[in-house]
Amino acid sequence: MDKRGYYGEFGGAFIPEILSATFDDLVAHFNGIKNDPLFWDSYVDLMSTYSCRATPLTYAENLTNHFGGAKIYIKREDLNHTGAHKANNVMGQGLLVKKMGKTRVIAETGAGQHGVATATMAAKFGFDCTIYMGEVDVKRQRPNVFWMEQMGATVIPVTDGTRILKDAINEAFRDWVTNMETTHYVLGTACGPHPFPEMVSYFQSIIGKEARKQILEREGKLPARVYACVGGGSNAMGIFSGFLPDAGVTCVGVEAAGRGLATGEHASRLCTDDASVGVAQGYKTFFLQDDDGQMKETHSIAAGLDYVGVSPILSQLHVEKKARFESATDEEVIAALKLTMQKEGIIPALESAHAFAGAFKEVGNLPPDQCIIINQSGRGDKDIFTVADAFDDPQWKAFIKEKAGDYRA
Ligand SMILES: *Cc1c(COP(=O)(O)O)cnc(C)c1O
Repeated sequence: MDKRGYYGEFGGAFIPEILSATFDDLVAHFNGIKNDPLFWDSYVDLMSTYSCRATPLTYAENLTNHFGGAKIYIKREDLNHTGAHKANNVMGQGLLVKKMGKTRVIAETGAGQHGVATATMAAKFGFDCTIYMGEVDVKRQRPNVFWMEQMGATVIPVTDGTRILKDAINEAFRDWVTNMETTHYVLGTACGPHPFPEMVSYFQSIIGKEARKQILEREGKLPARVYACVGGGSNAMGIFSGFLPDAGVTCVGVEAAGRGLATGEHASRLCTDDASVGVAQGYKTFFLQDDDGQMKETHSIAAGLDYVGVSPILSQLHVEKKARFESATDEEVIAALKLTMQKEGIIPALESAHAFAGAFKEVGNLPPDQCIIINQSGRGDKDIFTVADAFDDPQWKAFIKEKAGDYRA
């Protein structure tokens, strides 16, 4: 990365002039904690007492036997507080907000996972909290809205544009411009203007640091491949960062192929030619956009992967061929989820199940004396509505009908 936050041609900070002092201050504070050897220890201490770090590295013996190839290990980010790797980022930014002396946090959220994580952090640190969420998502994700509000956050439904994630991001920036003095914007993934891609990746690097140590302890050698799903790219950057310097390890990012790459109904930016380089939402990267720079509609069964942009750091790794990008369809993801539940008693989030599906396509071709790591970014309980629909479970349908009846009465 250069001084202005560029990774090759990607990244940068395309921000309104009025925010430049706020960004300078943020960069200065972030550099301060990065260079303070005590900060990382305080972060690890917080994460090991409030969340569940170090998260385990689980040997998936039954899946390994099923495929008959390399040994499969699973990095268990699902065991974090609030059920996903998002805790690593929000708690890290929470410590930073305290250092900056600010008292209010805002965040964007799509499916609501980042909103819940941010509301949790704000409750713990005693910050005021406002969450921007597209009106469409507020309706679709009522359970997450409920928990955010119960933890004291104000959830603001965004009625602009298509009323989804990208509109929520724009609204959060608008809020920040008016309340810079008191407020920090807790961006949810390794995207957006510098220093967010670097900063979010820095907090998430705790995944890769742990995983590297754990696999060396268990196997005495590094994995042949490391798999992670790619939405904005923060869990992928988190685990990849532990292995990128190692020439023998291939980092594989798995994007959402949705209903199939050929249908156009997907969210794959790096493994297809459907995305092009552009500037939006404060940074330069590959976006799924048309020739006029209008963002395309994306689709994935996993709400957390349904995003038009991608981390500028991953774009650069892609261009330099330092990481490989593949995809998995909704159908492949559901099959991988089912297999993982039945063989290991583990329920990956639909997002994470993309990494599993990507690994399952390849692991049988690797020799048994090698091993791989799959990053399980989150737990799947939140997906019960989508998964039960996909499995077409009649009892579940009856249950939903009955519940709906209860509420009508
Ligand atoms: C939000 C989310 C993702 C996608 O975000 P990244 O920044 O790409 O990691 C993946 N998995 C889970 C469980 C999530 O909640």
